[in-house]
Amino acid sequence: MSLPENPSAHGFNTRAVHAGQAFEPRTGAVVPPVHFSSTYAQEAIGVLRDGYEYGRGTNPTRDSLQEQLAALEGGTAAFSFSSGLAAEDSMIRALTRPGDHIVLGNDAYGGTYRLISRVLGEWGIGNTPVDMSNLDAVAAAVAASKTRLVWVETPSNPMMKITDIAALAKVAHDAGALLVVDNTFASPYLQNPLALGADVVVHSTTKYIGGHSDVVGGAIIVKDAELAEKIGFVQFAVGAISGPMDAFLTTRGLKTLGVRMDRHSDNAQAVAEWLLERPEVEAVLYPGLPSHPGHELARKQMKKFGGMISVQFKGGEAAARTVAESTSVFTLAESLGGIESLMNYPSEMTHASVKGTELAVPVNLIRLSCGIEDVEDLIADLEQAFSKIAAAAGE
Ligand SMILES: *Cc1c(COP(=O)(O)O)cnc(C)c1O
Repeated sequence: MSLPENPSAHGFNTRAVHAGQAFEPRTGAVVPPVHFSSTYAQEAIGVLRDGYEYGRGTNPTRDSLQEQLAALEGGTAAFSFSSGLAAEDSMIRALTRPGDHIVLGNDAYGGTYRLISRVLGEWGIGNTPVDMSNLDAVAAAVAASKTRLVWVETPSNPMMKITDIAALAKVAHDAGALLVVDNTFASPYLQNPLALGADVVVHSTTKYIGGHSDVVGGAIIVKDAELAEKIGFVQFAVGAISGPMDAFLTTRGLKTLGVRMDRHSDNAQAVAEWLLERPEVEAVLYPGLPSHPGHELARKQMKKFGGMISVQFKGGEAAARTVAESTSVFTLAESLGGIESLMNYPSEMTHASVKGTELAVPVNLIRLSCGIEDVEDLIADLEQAFSKIAAAAGE
């Protein structure tokens, strides 16, 4: 089965397993072979077999992944890159010119802000960080400059704010700008920004899409042919492509995205509800909790609420650091979205690059990436880590 004609006629998990994954015609190998070749024999000068010429331009394994990604995000074209930031860099260079401006969330991923402000800023791209959940503030920021891109993460990282994608698309489009959604936290299983009016979807496929913490990658998905043409040109001309093995691992992970996201979401919901009852906790930031300010909106635009939770402690930085360093099922590490649970102290780890800026993360906050382990073990692990807070404070 190859699902070529109309992939949207099938459900998400069917597309995940089959889109772009036709069996190999010569042998019938159910899993298409990984193509490592860097170049392709030509029939005659300039006469290519099925369009394949050179590995930077096209590779069948990368094509399979790109087809799978487009089918899952509801796009017409997808582009796979060597990392999430490489994807962002190529896409921004394809769609902006010096003098253009990017309005982005004031809690955007630290590496995104660093790329836009410190690398692309030197090449004449301006930026304004703004609270994306405040649409009036966004409209004012967009109007104040020659805004080409409005950039949002929802849920955001690590403050877990929810932004109305459809409303934000209208704000962007009214001003002649494009809406970019970094959909890394939700994944295409939980949220499809293109269907809500976004123009460009960004993924760090390193996270939920790869899903096993064993490959770094990024992707851009669009539905508009002109945008696809521009991004495809930069992908080819700049060359930050994913290699065949990385593309294969990402495809393999993506096939199980739906079942993993259900489990990540269920585990996180139970952990968040447990955290809410704990006396050590000042705030639980999880959109699946009815007390979360974005809960109703998240219910509308997401299928479930995902595996990411941020927690703030009454005991401040010391309590957060104690918990971060006291777990054993949760591993203290950067990144997220893998099957194993990870613990992160953003202000010194993932978001160290925005320390001292207006994107800085509170020092009493830890971020949990809830894996697919047994939830009782996750809660027991947190419980024993919490028991160290008082002991550490008393020392
Ligand atoms: C990790 C991450 C990125 C960057 O992706 P890399 O694969 O690390 O380059 C961008 N956005 C979000 C939300 C991320 O979590």
